[in-house]
Amino acid sequence: MSSDRFDEARRGAGSGIAFVVTGPSGAGKTSVINRVMGELQALAFSVSHTTRKRREGEIAGTDYVFVSEDEFERLVQAGEFAEHTRYSGFRYGTTRTQLEECFVRGDDVILNVEVEGAKSLRERGFGNHPIVYVFLAPSTLDLLAERLRDRGTETEAKISERVAVAAREMDALDSFDYLVVNDDLDQAVSELRAIVVAERSRIGHP
Ligand code: 5GP
Repeated sequence: MSSDRFDEARRGAGSGIAFVVTGPSGAGKTSVINRVMGELQALAFSVSHTTRKRREGEIAGTDYVFVSEDEFERLVQAGEFAEHTRYSGFRYGTTRTQLEECFVRGDDVILNVEVEGAKSLRERGFGNHPIVYVFLAPSTLDLLAERLRDRGTETEAKISERVAVAAREMDALDSFDYLVVNDDLDQAVSELRAIVVAERSRIGHP
């Protein structure tokens, strides 16, 4: 350590940590993330771009940036995405600008991405920023299907498709740093919160 400041020895000091929350659709990533963001300071949400239609209750620019296929492809060609993927017939991606804007403000950032996007970010990284990977899932696939049905936003065919994808995603668990089981929302929130707090105190890179 070359500085006379103890606080600069922290892993994320001055560089911003990205917390990638991944896992199957229906795992409850959005609910857990929203609660944790309400409890912690200096934690920004990475607003993704998507080609899917806005759902009722979603706010453009806050939940997602909703774009056309053409616009999404233009951003891909321009090298704008830190990661992007096609999921369930639509495209989703995290722009570099989105992450940089959070880091420039001095915030850490939390991403809500499916498993392929998380894996590709793991391979490519994002500059010198530490990235922490959290896999969030209910304890069983049956519970996952039940959650998707309760959400009422997908057809039965889409639910089967998403559960089949989730079964394959389980195999990717080893690529990530933490597992949060979300059978109970309060418990999952407290675990993700603990991970963020602990990682903010980490000295140096693993
Ligand atoms: P939904 O359409 O239900 O909002 O999201 C479907 C899936 O896309 C979720 O698993 C969500 O985590 C994922 N997702 C949302 N934004 C992104 C993104 O920017 N990149 C990737 N790779 N996945 C995303």
